[in-house]
This record gives sequence, structure tokens and C-alpha cells, in this order.
Amino acid sequence: MQELIEAIEKLGSAAGSDVVKVDMFLNHRLDTTLLFKMGEELAGTFREEKPDLVLTVEASGIALALTTAHALGDIPVVFAKKSQTVVQSRDVIQASVYSFTHKCTNMIRVDRRYLPQGSRVLIVDDFLADGQAALGMMSLCTQAQCPVVGIGIGVEKGFQEGGKKLREAGMNLYSLAVVDRIEDGRIVLRREN
Ligand code: 5GP
Repeated sequence: MQELIEAIEKLGSAAGSDVVKVDMFLNHRLDTTLLFKMGEELAGTFREEKPDLVLTVEASGIALALTTAHALGDIPVVFAKKSQTVVQSRDVIQASVYSFTHKCTNMIRVDRRYLPQGSRVLIVDDFLADGQAALGMMSLCTQAQCPVVGIGIGVEKGFQEGGKKLREAGMNLYSLAVVDRIEDGRIVLRREN
């Protein structure tokens, strides 16, 4: 998606050899115009799959999940939680996810009521790296007996294994921008996207 590619080139930065920072418009400060365009693009890609809901993980996936769900006709967004609270229902579905950015394993949890059996789920996340978050969300869907009809991603890091793993597993995966590599501290994007 051209607007996202331009934003990454203009406002993104690299941290080390494998982290892409886009705090200026996606992960800390949110560019609402860009996020609504990203949501429209993902919605257009997956509309024919007729998702009943969008599933993401807190916190950084929520904004893109919301604009995508809005563009799909205001279907609900369900976000998996990373922390357990006293007010949480007992009937939760959970999966463990290794966090690439925090270098630790979190449980992600969803109240079973919000993933009704048979719901067609579109998974959305801001980034795809090794695919752990997406696989964790797929596990939640399997436990809830909900088909995953697609995975929509903001920024895929093509030099990590997540995209390959998910495509080889037959997932309908679409990324709005793909980072090919980080070279001398510079983000190099794939142009064919
Ligand atoms: P994965 O689970 O695919 O390994 O990593 C995806 C998750 O880690 C995303 O939910 C995202 O929040 C975070 N993440 C992975 N790589 C990056 C990165 O380079 N930059 C940012 N901002 N987040 C990342």
C-alpha cells in the first residue's frame, strides 16, 4: 500500500538489525487518516471471506483492527488480553505467545463468549515477524471452533519466518507493506506490494 510505504520511508526508523519503529504513526502516535485507509485496504481484501469479527492482540493491533472492522460494516473487534484481571470471566481460552519485541512469553486470553463457536474470524495485527502472535490467535480460534478466514497485517518483516510459515500452512495472508531488510540502519521495502 503506497501511503504506508511512504510513511515508513519518511517516518520509520530501524532499531538494530531487525526492529522497525513506526511510533510516529502506528505504535505510539496514531495517524488516523492513514489507519482508516489501511483498514479500508484490508477490508477490501477480505470482504468476500465474510468475516463475522476481527481478532487482534492488545495493544498495538487494536487501532488497525478497529478501522478494518469499521470498513467491513462495523463488525466487532475482539482483542486478546495479555494480563489477567479479577473481573475476567472464568471461561477463558488461552494460548502462550513469545513476544519478539519484549523477549518474553505471555499468555493471551479471550473470554469464550466473545468467540462464539462457528464465527468466521479475520485476524489483524500491526506487525508480522516470526508469526508467534498470529499462531497464538489461530490457536484461540481452534479452541473456540472458529474458522480463520484470513490474516491481515500492517507491516510484514519479510526477513523473518512468520509470513513463510503462515503461507505454507495455507493461510490467506495479506500484508499492506513488506520490509525486505534493514541495511546499514536503513529500512528497505519490497516494491511489488
Ligand atoms: P511475531 O509474533 O510475528 O513474532 O511478532 C509480531 C508482534 O510483535 C506484533 O504484534 C508486534 O506488536 C510486535 N513486533 C514484532 N516485530 C516488530 C517490529 O519490528 N516493530 C514493532 N513496532 N513491533 C514488532
